Amino acid sequence: MTQAFTSSAASRFLRYVTVDTQSDDRSESYPSTARQLVLLNQLVAELKEMGVADATIDQYGYVMATIPATPGREEVPVIGFVAHVDTSPDVSGAGVTPIVHRSYDGRDIVLPDDPSMVLREADNPELAEQHGHDIITASGLTLLGSDDKSGVAEIMAAAEHLMAHPEIPHGVVKIGFTPDEEVGRGTQYFDVNRFGARFAYTLDGHKRGELEIENFSADAMTITFKGFNVHPGYAKGKMVSAIKLASEFVHRLPRNGLSPETTDGYEGYVHPNAIQGGVEQATVKLLLRDFVTAGLDEKARMLTDLAEEVVRPFPAASVEIDRRESYRNMKEVLDRYPEVIDHAKEGMTRAGLTPYFRQIRGGTDGARLSFMGLPTPNLFAGEHNIHSRLEWTSVQDMDKAVEVIVEICRSWAEESDRT
Ligand SMILES: [Zn+2]
Repeated sequence: MTQAFTSSAASRFLRYVTVDTQSDDRSESYPSTARQLVLLNQLVAELKEMGVADATIDQYGYVMATIPATPGREEVPVIGFVAHVDTSPDVSGAGVTPIVHRSYDGRDIVLPDDPSMVLREADNPELAEQHGHDIITASGLTLLGSDDKSGVAEIMAAAEHLMAHPEIPHGVVKIGFTPDEEVGRGTQYFDVNRFGARFAYTLDGHKRGELEIENFSADAMTITFKGFNVHPGYAKGKMVSAIKLASEFVHRLPRNGLSPETTDGYEGYVHPNAIQGGVEQATVKLLLRDFVTAGLDEKARMLTDLAEEVVRPFPAASVEIDRRESYRNMKEVLDRYPEVIDHAKEGMTRAGLTPYFRQIRGGTDGARLSFMGLPTPNLFAGEHNIHSRLEWTSVQDMDKAVEVIVEICRSWAEESDRT
């Protein structure tokens, strides 16, 4: 069965990565870059070619399509599969030259266009699970784009497989391809009603078997310190420097915990990620992260107390605090729909994998979709070293993901037989 998938997901992937789809966080347009539309339009054409007749692209670039239910399965809950076409603004995605390294055996993989880029098993323990597999990398000058063109190629290959095999029972299956995930706007104009799925899965994860059902809850805080400027030659006893207030605040942040550098697993953090200003006014921007939303309140309180403490000795100084919600842990939604997770686990088991949970120490489009009314956990897509010139994926992981998609569709259909 696996062999039958190989040509489709991998050959699609090798074509899609050559299209530069980098998004741009400084752009005001939607999608943020027109080049993403090249691939999005191409996907519509390919879907139509395989017989998915209603494939469309809307004014924002969202591609949506429907694989009709097999006869008698029209009442099965409609499920969707979603992936994003854009690649990270952090590393060039122009002129990607994918290379297939056949039957990997633990050797160092040297990328030819920059031989200082070497993929070593010692630095990448996940490669140990890939012996005998075909690894795909870029050539050393760009990222690969496995994030998330692996997911795109897998969904396309699964669609092709379902269209070609009407004997596989499934309900209505929706397909969605989105722009601008990497700049945090992937779901901004996503019309959940028009998409028409009851539940969905993003294909945008890491190694085989991975199932992601929880992510950070996240807020952003801007703390503005207001000082008092006087000509520095005549400032004695009068000047209060906002630069020094902001520095003091950052200096007093916890050193041994609560920071990105000191936490992992389920630990949250506060992270000053931008600072700017002058004597009169200085702002510190912070990211707040916690798997429990109430934990964000605690962190916000701690930061507020700290900022107030810093200005307290200076009557001429003051502080203003602004806190905004960024995104929330999708587990808060998914806990109400255990069947979504159960079918994902069942699909993986049927594909011969042992599913395991990993928490996302960040956000995901699926989290936003979950809170927009479309519960959407994330499935592995075979992405490794994402946003890096050492990014890689494997043909066999991609084929496995295709198999998982097909088996999830089958699992939903068969469950409806029983109830
Ligand atoms: Zn991604």
